[in-house]
Amino acid sequence: MARFFIENYGCQMNAAEADSLRTLLIASGHAEETDPARADIVIINTCSVRKTAEQRIIGRLGFYRGLNQQNGTKIRSVIMGCMSLHSGKELRAQFPDIVGLVWGTYHKEQIIPYLNRLASGITIKEEHLDWDTFDFLEASPEEQFPFKAFVPIAHGCDNYCSYCIVPYVRGHEVHRPAGEIMDNIAKLASQGVLDICLLGQNVNSYRDGNMRFPELLAKIAAESGIPRITFLTSHPKDFSKELARTMSEHPSIMPFLHLPFQSGSDRILAAMNRKYTAADYMEKIGWAKEIPGIALSTDILVGFPGETDEDFEATMRIVEEVRFQDAYMYRYSTRPGTAAEKLPDQVPEKVKLERLARLIPRQKTIGRELLTPYTGEIHTALIESVSKKSRHILSGRTHNNIQIFVPGEETLIGTIVRVMITGASGMGMKGEII
Ligand code: SF4
Repeated sequence: MARFFIENYGCQMNAAEADSLRTLLIASGHAEETDPARADIVIINTCSVRKTAEQRIIGRLGFYRGLNQQNGTKIRSVIMGCMSLHSGKELRAQFPDIVGLVWGTYHKEQIIPYLNRLASGITIKEEHLDWDTFDFLEASPEEQFPFKAFVPIAHGCDNYCSYCIVPYVRGHEVHRPAGEIMDNIAKLASQGVLDICLLGQNVNSYRDGNMRFPELLAKIAAESGIPRITFLTSHPKDFSKELARTMSEHPSIMPFLHLPFQSGSDRILAAMNRKYTAADYMEKIGWAKEIPGIALSTDILVGFPGETDEDFEATMRIVEEVRFQDAYMYRYSTRPGTAAEKLPDQVPEKVKLERLARLIPRQKTIGRELLTPYTGEIHTALIESVSKKSRHILSGRTHNNIQIFVPGEETLIGTIVRVMITGASGMGMKGEII
């Protein structure tokens, strides 16, 4: 029996896989440690979407080397996930005293048999970086929020956006059989899960035979009894009128849509290989805005190679025209092996930071402005935790995924309540339970 500690980094897909792996490890007799210093094995589920994510992993391995030197312990680590695909061997060479096993993004559950050997100090020289068939792990309730769950339905991506490393580390798109998804969701519902997020790097290109994403979503809404259903991450090229209609027709499908546009310039969108134009994107936003109570969020990448001031102005125009509730805004970071790595006209870091310094406050102002009209309205919200500010203030999310703070007792955590909105609070709202 090994005492393990899981460190998870990156996207919701990694989080979902870490939750599933945790459930499998405990079911196979291993014990989870809450303090990494007391663990035999630290499982690091890595991310390589940006350089900073990778630097963090190297820092963690140095931390465990320090712990071993300080406490005389023999903590070993399993490096798995996206970074291990292209840097696993280097990490082992740099940290031979810490890195016990290097594993890819496939078959994460198959590390279990290795844990005993690692815990007894045996060094395992193998690397498992190759992939053949992808098996979806059964989704489990989230560790921190056991009334919520991420449910992977698709894995990998075939879009090859020129700045993105995902297709090279997660492989080709694989879609989970619909029957398996329905069974998994039925089990989650029986475990008291009220809120599910369907996951895929390109979730809305899902297909299982004749069943495409809108049909799957409608089936889950009609049959699962789960009151809050959402999905991540959609690609604009696969966002259809039918999907917008399906979201409008089923009250349990949360009126929240994350639709990354990345840039407002057609020239840059083409160089990114995004497969849509700004006009295409705006047309699809038009369909989305017909969904009652919809809240929109997006991803915006500034400083892509060759991006001019005019290109950036085109991005700002989309921000002004759409008015997103929220956005992930970041600067381009060169990823090894991607098509954009070799592009000329890399934008200076100073210019990237100047553009972000203009974009972020403007988007935040828009986000706050969009909250004001909610005052006086009644909405349902899932109470998730106590707020960081006070144990008597609860934090939750409305049906359209906006954060809300309400006074209340901790016994309400994990329940859906009706709230009278009384105003904005930071990038969220505040209200009273009614
Ligand atoms: S759609 Fe593009 S950005 Fe998204 S995971 Fe696929 S390649 Fe990456």
